[in-house]
Amino acid sequence: MRNGAQRQSSSGRSRANTSSHDLQAVVAGLRGEVRFGAPLRDYTSFRIGGPADVLVIPVDVDDLSRLIKQAHAAKVPVFAIGGTNLLVRDQGIRGVVVSLSRLKAIKDESDGVIYAEGGVVMPTLMRHAITRALSGLEWAAGIPGTVAGCVVMNAGTRLGEMKDAVKAVRVVDPLGRVIDCPANAIQFSYRRALLPRGIVVGVWLQLKPAQREKIERVIKEYLRYRKNTQPLTLPNAGCVFKNPEHNTAGRLIEAAGLKGARVGDAQVSEKHANFVVNLGQASAGDVIALIKKVGRTVEQQTGITLELELKIVGQP
Ligand SMILES: Cc1cc2nc3c(=O)[nH]c(=O)nc-3n(C[C@H](O)[C@H](O)[C@H](O)COP(=O)(O)OP(=O)(O)OC[C@H]3O[C@@H](n4cnc5c(N)ncnc54)[C@H](O)[C@@H]3O)c2cc1C
Repeated sequence: MRNGAQRQSSSGRSRANTSSHDLQAVVAGLRGEVRFGAPLRDYTSFRIGGPADVLVIPVDVDDLSRLIKQAHAAKVPVFAIGGTNLLVRDQGIRGVVVSLSRLKAIKDESDGVIYAEGGVVMPTLMRHAITRALSGLEWAAGIPGTVAGCVVMNAGTRLGEMKDAVKAVRVVDPLGRVIDCPANAIQFSYRRALLPRGIVVGVWLQLKPAQREKIERVIKEYLRYRKNTQPLTLPNAGCVFKNPEHNTAGRLIEAAGLKGARVGDAQVSEKHANFVVNLGQASAGDVIALIKKVGRTVEQQTGITLELELKIVGQP
């Protein structure tokens, strides 16, 4: 479950086609929500995406383990989403899509350590840290993803990144077993983390005591910066491309004259050239065509090949 490839699955035994009989077996006896044919545009910040064969929202880690075991037995792929760095293709995602939105407990441990379940979203986690006067997550101000998604992506900003705070990660592996993995066994790099295969269900974060006012000041300033520079009022999925060395993708795209470029209702933001926004009815096809055009134009003009940060997932 490390990146967005459609056939990448926690079961590790996925098949090309899944019958409704298989899907019934995969979701049998689960206590969480099960939605067949759920439109994934309702679960992504881009508001784009076709249906999941079945979307499951487990109630707890045991429920998730059961799902994973049953999916493994039926060789049905499982794909976890938070939904804020994703472009789901118009044909949707085959197999099981898992949302951890009900795994949202936060526990205080000793010496500045917090355990957050995988479905906790960063704004909630940050508010929790502020009330305990714990510093170490200010860099994440304005990142809407789940704590699990932020570990998988090693999310970050110019103020810091997830790897700076992670102490250990809890994963449910493709056989449904719970595994705890210390941070020093995880290889983090720019918007990437090499984790054990499976679904991240919890993260231990090591934070430091600090003055609450100081923490709040940093967060407020960074949120103001985002509001001034990013298109936060239109559906989007954050930065589309990674920054190349010694440059930023936004600067290159803007210099190529692409701000405001459109395919259908997908538009290169007028405010921040490394964001694509959905003006209303954009399809994944529109976004993909626009991204290709941007990549091609920048490469022709500068010789630099931009690499995607956005995960494009689902049935081509
Ligand atoms: C307005 C806006 C601003 C943003 N700003 C930033 C920013 O400054 N910096 C930054 O780094 N990102 C930013 N993002 C992007 C996004 O929030 C981050 O990449 C975040 O880490 C994605 O988390 P997610 O839970 O939404 O995961 P998703 O986007 O759903 O998934 C990302 C990848 O993680 C995998 N994944 C998700 N959950 C799990 C899980 N539980 N177990 C295993 N794999 C999982 C998915 O399968 C996928 O491969 C921004 C997005 C928006 C919309």
